[in-house]
Amino acid sequence: MDNILNNSLPVAVLGAGPIGLAAAAHLVARGFTPLILEAGAQVASNLASYRHVRLFSPWQYNVDKAARQSLMAAGWQAPDPEVLPTAGEIVDRYLLPLAALPAIAENLRLSHRVVAITRAGFDKVKTRGRESAPFVIRAATPEGEREYLASAVIDATGTWSQPNPLGANGLPARGEVALRDRIAYGMPDVLGAGRQRYAGRRVLVVGAGHSAAGSLLALATLAEQVPGTHLVWAIRGRQSAKLFGGGDADGLPARGQLGMRLKALQQSGRLELHQDFRIQSLLEDAGRITVRGETGAADIDGIDAIIAATGARPNLDITRELRVRHDPWLESTDLLAPLIDPNEHSCGTVRPHGHRELAHPEQGYYAVGAKSYGRAPNFLMATGYEQVRSVVAALAGDLLAADDVQLELPETGVCSTRQAYDREPVASACCGGPAPSQETACCVADAETKEQGKGGCGCPSLPNLAPSARPACCA
Ligand SMILES: Cc1cc2nc3c(=O)[nH]c(=O)nc-3n(C[C@H](O)[C@H](O)[C@H](O)COP(=O)(O)OP(=O)(O)OC[C@H]3O[C@@H](n4cnc5c(N)ncnc54)[C@H](O)[C@@H]3O)c2cc1C
Repeated sequence: MDNILNNSLPVAVLGAGPIGLAAAAHLVARGFTPLILEAGAQVASNLASYRHVRLFSPWQYNVDKAARQSLMAAGWQAPDPEVLPTAGEIVDRYLLPLAALPAIAENLRLSHRVVAITRAGFDKVKTRGRESAPFVIRAATPEGEREYLASAVIDATGTWSQPNPLGANGLPARGEVALRDRIAYGMPDVLGAGRQRYAGRRVLVVGAGHSAAGSLLALATLAEQVPGTHLVWAIRGRQSAKLFGGGDADGLPARGQLGMRLKALQQSGRLELHQDFRIQSLLEDAGRITVRGETGAADIDGIDAIIAATGARPNLDITRELRVRHDPWLESTDLLAPLIDPNEHSCGTVRPHGHRELAHPEQGYYAVGAKSYGRAPNFLMATGYEQVRSVVAALAGDLLAADDVQLELPETGVCSTRQAYDREPVASACCGGPAPSQETACCVADAETKEQGKGGCGCPSLPNLAPSARPACCA
């Protein structure tokens, strides 16, 4: 079993979030030297930015196996596997101790923001000899720009630092840039540091994912404490079952409960919901913001502050000189797209995948973690841990282990599919609920894979079926 790399050079890991640090742990376990470049002044700076948020997956899904082994060998006390940590607890109790292990700490460079990756002596066009040229990684550091050589690159830079704008067309809404200081992107600490900003205000939350749900529930608590706090929610779609999640059928109960609590909030009349609202522009008048939609919908006016929970996108600029292949609309790694495309289905469950799906034409470069999903939501840490285990095994030349991808993910109770976009989704019809009884139901492939003892939506595992023979959700 020979590894395929130039051993005199380290393997670069870009980003020291949970997946980057897990990659480093796997590299160390396989005898490689990692070089970990992290933009933040501490590891996991994205998780740290929403440290107040309680995660919906318990500890058992949040700790990588190789990382656990190294930590245990150093006397680490593993947290209770059933408990739901906050993002801050993931940082303090898991990622900081992991980063402090000598084999990682001595190869970790903080405040190193990667700005570009290329091959030594080769621009993107040059082919002959390319694969034996080391990677060159250019980073902005407090001491100025630095360059590092590496034998391979594992890019785990995530997407969180590049939030999507409010504009429904993917561009900043007109007026959005000028009103930047009135908009918080992501998940601000509504009940903590952000309290003054939202207390007694009319606050608009934009977005239909778990981050939006979490912010709305925090605002609801604030509204109970501070009269005059009003909650307004704008979403582009109009699918209540998708919005309110899988409820009891969700394999992660905390995620299911988030949706159920939100539904109760709306039913109680404490939440002003604007469905089918595609934001076009923001206007300020006498200190308050009017939000205008694209479809002739009535304006949302009198807004004091906006929370944009509109998702995030990967930074593709840093790989401009590499031969990368992305899905045209998800910007995910190309082969991963059919497994995760939210236009097709938004199961929290994906088919296990590893180095083959994550490979790019540029041999030795892999994007992993949230970045590998591009703009698709629903990435889970457990997915990333299996990704890096497989990628590092492949770098070590251990294809047996690299191809043996296994992923047991908790399922989401509602899987929205193309079929479900046209009608109201049938809760529990797919990915988590009982197997469908009709052949055309969404999703018979899911039922079949489950009968084989596998978890998750099996739609993508039917590539040989003629489109007309596939269940609607898999077409
Ligand atoms: C609010 C929220 C709640 C979530 N809850 C869960 C949950 O309960 N369970 C679950 O499994 N998943 C959850 N996720 C999804 C996912 O697991 C996390 O987003 C996870 O942090 C992704 O890990 P990552 O390492 O891929 O990326 P990140 O955690 O985003 O880490 C990327 C790292 O790269 C660094 N970086 C970025 N750009 C550069 C650069 N150019 N150069 C160098 N470094 C760079 C960043 O500073 C950061 O440290 C949640 C996500 C969010 C946003």
